[in-house]
Amino acid sequence: MGKEDIIQEGITEIIRNLKNISFEDQTVLITGGAGFLGSWLCDVLIKQNARVICLDNFASGLEGNVSHLLNQENFKFVKHDISQPIYFDEKIDVVMHLASRASPLEFDKFPIQIIKANTLGTWIALGIAKKHGAKFLFTSTSEIYGDAKIIPTPETYNGDVNPVGVRGCYDESKRAGEAMCMAYMRQHGLDVRIARIFNTYGPRMRADGVYGRVVSRFIHQALNNKPITIFGDGKQTRSFCYVTDQVEGLLRLAWFDEAKGEVVNIGNPNEITILELAEIIKKITNSNSSLDFHPLPPDDPRRRCPDISKARRLLKWDSKVELKEGLTRMIEWLKF
Ligand code: UDP
Repeated sequence: MGKEDIIQEGITEIIRNLKNISFEDQTVLITGGAGFLGSWLCDVLIKQNARVICLDNFASGLEGNVSHLLNQENFKFVKHDISQPIYFDEKIDVVMHLASRASPLEFDKFPIQIIKANTLGTWIALGIAKKHGAKFLFTSTSEIYGDAKIIPTPETYNGDVNPVGVRGCYDESKRAGEAMCMAYMRQHGLDVRIARIFNTYGPRMRADGVYGRVVSRFIHQALNNKPITIFGDGKQTRSFCYVTDQVEGLLRLAWFDEAKGEVVNIGNPNEITILELAEIIKKITNSNSSLDFHPLPPDDPRRRCPDISKARRLLKWDSKVELKEGLTRMIEWLKF
């Protein structure tokens, strides 16, 4: 099976799981459409015969994630930074605002761009939705909970965030983005939906440089028999959601009428330590990489695990892909 087949199978699986949920004939604007999750959304929506406007400035997105769609009649690519104004003539039905760098290693280098994408960018994307009378999906993050005191964390937990810490540029701008969505709903009656995305992995997640996240970095290191870089003692936890589950959850959130004005956690509730993750990846890749311990970055949350009962109830959604299965698929994809 080739690299593209793994993605195509995933797209087919998402469409099958969505059942009668379809965006056929709707025009969907996706900011950050060339990114990891944005490009999966583009693929699924094009398969469903929606019209897709994919907007990206390639800050962290990649042209290669969407280049195969450029010859599709119902796909349009616009290279643009969403923190700057932009106007569309065609009628837009749904705006999905994903544009933002999301890797903690980027927080140090690009904090201003991150704040702009989530504040000015959210404001501009909301303005587009308002002008077109479109639905608005904001992709927020588990980061807004900071170092959560309630695990698994429900949407009703308001968070424990350090506004002046290195992660503040991301946490606080996503929090401001959420507040902006609610302001547009309250003041203008806009149909907004907020997803709080928990750690997600899968094909198209970058492994290179500051863009790499723990799963992509560990797989890359294991496949090359390089030391696996554990930050801190590795006893901190995360809960990893496979990309097909995440994308299905986002589309369900954009779809159901009952989800209007709601904020919903989307993630996998299976919590594991970073050390356990390293061991699982070593085993699947049959790697003899050593474990290399590095200092824990500041404000790195000790535990992270979503309470997904609201998504189960409201969106009739559940995470389905087990960690070992998802990792195996991602490893296959990264091998090519
Ligand atoms: N991490 C690690 N080694 C790496 C990259 C990350 O041990 O090479 C840890 C990181 O400190 C954090 C967890 O893995 O505790 C998840 O990191 P990620 O970059 O995926 O994002 P986060 O969940 O912190 O937003």
